[in-house]
Amino acid sequence: MFGKKKLKPLKIGLVGLGKIAVDQHIPSIRANPGLELVAGCSPNARPDDVKAYNSLEEMLAAHPEIEAVAICTPPQIRHTIARQVIAAGKHVFLEKPPAATLGEAEAIADLAKAKGVSVLASWHSRFAPAVETTRQWIAARTIKSIHVVWKENVRQWHPGQKWIFEAGGMGVFDPGINSLSILTRIVAEKVVVKKADLHIPVNCEAPIQVEMDMTTESGIAIRADYDFLQTGIQTWSIFVESDSGEKLELNMGGTGLIINGTEIMKEKEAEYPGLYAHFEKLVRAGQSDADFSPLRVVADAMLLGKRIAAPEYIE
Ligand code: NAP
Repeated sequence: MFGKKKLKPLKIGLVGLGKIAVDQHIPSIRANPGLELVAGCSPNARPDDVKAYNSLEEMLAAHPEIEAVAICTPPQIRHTIARQVIAAGKHVFLEKPPAATLGEAEAIADLAKAKGVSVLASWHSRFAPAVETTRQWIAARTIKSIHVVWKENVRQWHPGQKWIFEAGGMGVFDPGINSLSILTRIVAEKVVVKKADLHIPVNCEAPIQVEMDMTTESGIAIRADYDFLQTGIQTWSIFVESDSGEKLELNMGGTGLIINGTEIMKEKEAEYPGLYAHFEKLVRAGQSDADFSPLRVVADAMLLGKRIAAPEYIE
């Protein structure tokens, strides 16, 4: 008899109008009728069709109607910005990684809880189409081993992003943490770092290559190979083998899936629309999603890892 009451779109502001804001956030917000992109801010970037301000303060002063802010800056400044956003009483969407350190990430979650606003520590790769099928496949078997191979060309994917090799930029863990966000989703148990070799160029503060051994409490051996100097074929794959010799390959960052040699899935990438639908649901339900387990693995690798000097990196 009565139609469902139409909800007003959630009003969003963006902080940081660089590559990921332009490639994914702006189009995903605009494609979702439950959301409205009000404005953005960035020191220099001025995407054509966005009302842009120099700073968060200016943006919020001009648009007090903004209800939620997505922070798409490099991770080193995410904590400071998140504090301001939460203090202003706005919900907060954190790009990955949620902060430069685990302590900062936990502080953001605590602040949001105290202020009564929602926080999303976003892990876009968890929204890749093959992730849930992989999780179910693993849950139904005894797993022998997992091998993560995440190799891409930093010069191709991160041109001009100096922050990535500075302290807190995480180097090859910037893409690598995407694989860890999938890993910590598809494996039910906690993942523990046992050994890591961190290859750090002599002119950088973050690794360009990493080889890492991990395990779970029940003894699943997990190996990860990360390389930021991969030329030719780029690889974003996770290989899983069961005790009985069955094999699963999640590839192309989670858009492709091969099980025992048969292609099960090959889909287009569409992670951010799912991520924003999740954010909208959280805000409307007054909930948060702040899982920092992928960041914990990186932090542990940095604590335990052996630092090995690598040749100078020249962009
Ligand atoms: P980016 O292209 O370097 O963009 C970062 C933007 O942040 C720049 O436009 C920069 O400003 C802006 N910024 C810096 N300081 C600021 C401040 N104080 N206030 C407001 N804006 C500020 O980097 P990105 O590739 O978009 O990456 C940003 C984050 O998204 C990283 O955490 C990354 O891991 C994550 N991410 C990136 C990708 C990808 O494909 N690139 C994918 C998924 C997630 P100006 O340009 O205006 O100087």
